[in-house]
Amino acid sequence: MDHPEKSKYKSALKENEGIETPNTTNPSAIVRYQQRRKQKLSAQNIVSRIISGDKVALSQGITLIESLNPQHQIESNAIIQGCLPYANKSVRIGITGVPGVGKSTFIEAFGKLLTSTGKKVAVLAIDPSSSITRGSILGDKTRMEELVKDENAYIRPSASGDSLGGVARKTRESIILCEACGFDTILVETVGVGQSETAVQSMVDFFLLLNLAGAGDELQGIKRGIMEMADLVVINKADGENIKRAHQAKLDFNRALHLFPAKPSGWTPKVRTCSAIEQTGISEVWNIIEEYTQLTQESKYFEMHRREQNQYWMLETINENILSHFYNTPSIKSQIEDSKKAVQKNEISPFAAAQKILKMYFNQKS
Ligand code: GDP
Repeated sequence: MDHPEKSKYKSALKENEGIETPNTTNPSAIVRYQQRRKQKLSAQNIVSRIISGDKVALSQGITLIESLNPQHQIESNAIIQGCLPYANKSVRIGITGVPGVGKSTFIEAFGKLLTSTGKKVAVLAIDPSSSITRGSILGDKTRMEELVKDENAYIRPSASGDSLGGVARKTRESIILCEACGFDTILVETVGVGQSETAVQSMVDFFLLLNLAGAGDELQGIKRGIMEMADLVVINKADGENIKRAHQAKLDFNRALHLFPAKPSGWTPKVRTCSAIEQTGISEVWNIIEEYTQLTQESKYFEMHRREQNQYWMLETINENILSHFYNTPSIKSQIEDSKKAVQKNEISPFAAAQKILKMYFNQKS
């Protein structure tokens, strides 16, 4: 016979039937908390890998920066924040010129020269065409074949986005990650055809314009404003029968540059010739950039310029967000469409219509 204690009525281990514990926390809050924790861990993980020089983590971080997914944006903000203390230690160089001038060939030669002296070079691109056509002037060629294979180089094609402002912001944030990853020379490439140069200028220390000999600047589609931004104009393809013309162009550009007002940096823009293919005149370009950084670091302009750029980007980000919020508010969207018709029919003046829409927006906000 069994011991009486084994009977379920006698056992000391008998469990009283309890009542179900009520949920004290909202389950969706737990899910959100877990998601945030996961994101934080994953962001921390990416940051520490970036800081250790891991290029795969760098690419992951930049992909998150480029993503439109709001979760990814939270994660990428955490990554940028984590990388910030390690950024800033670099020279940021903007390189521009019309398609065909030899930007990729130049960057390949220039980048190889720099890595051969122990530098770590990151190449980022801003391509305004990619945001419009999704095709890209910069991205689709087999470019910089040698540099791509270089252990000390990192090449990232242009981000695509809805607006140039968006693409430019992503590039600027990517610069922070590249610097935290140990890249000390950042090349930001852009096609010299329009507004993207202004965006690039607001993220680089030095602006280099590649040009060709034998074509007036109008023919090359280079706008006066872009010439004015240049710290250095390099006439590329100074080789073979082109050498003489390149030297003539150098004189012409020198004369043109002297007509521009003095730069706040105190730097006098220079003109040089080079052959990206024959790799002549390339080291001279680096010498000039070093001369520039030395001068502007001594005068403290270098730091001041970067601080101004930070302020510019803060305001740009606010502008971008306000505009996007305004134009994506459904009631405003439909009001704009209605008002457009009314303005077209002369039923209301454009200013009154604008005032009406703005009033509606701000009333909704308050
Ligand atoms: P990008 O569109 O500005 O990036 O120009 P690429 O680097 O793709 O060059 C356009 C063309 O110019 C290519 O066929 C290059 O081989 C050629 N090219 C580039 N640099 C030089 C150079 O220094 N000398 C000569 N002769 N041709 C060059």
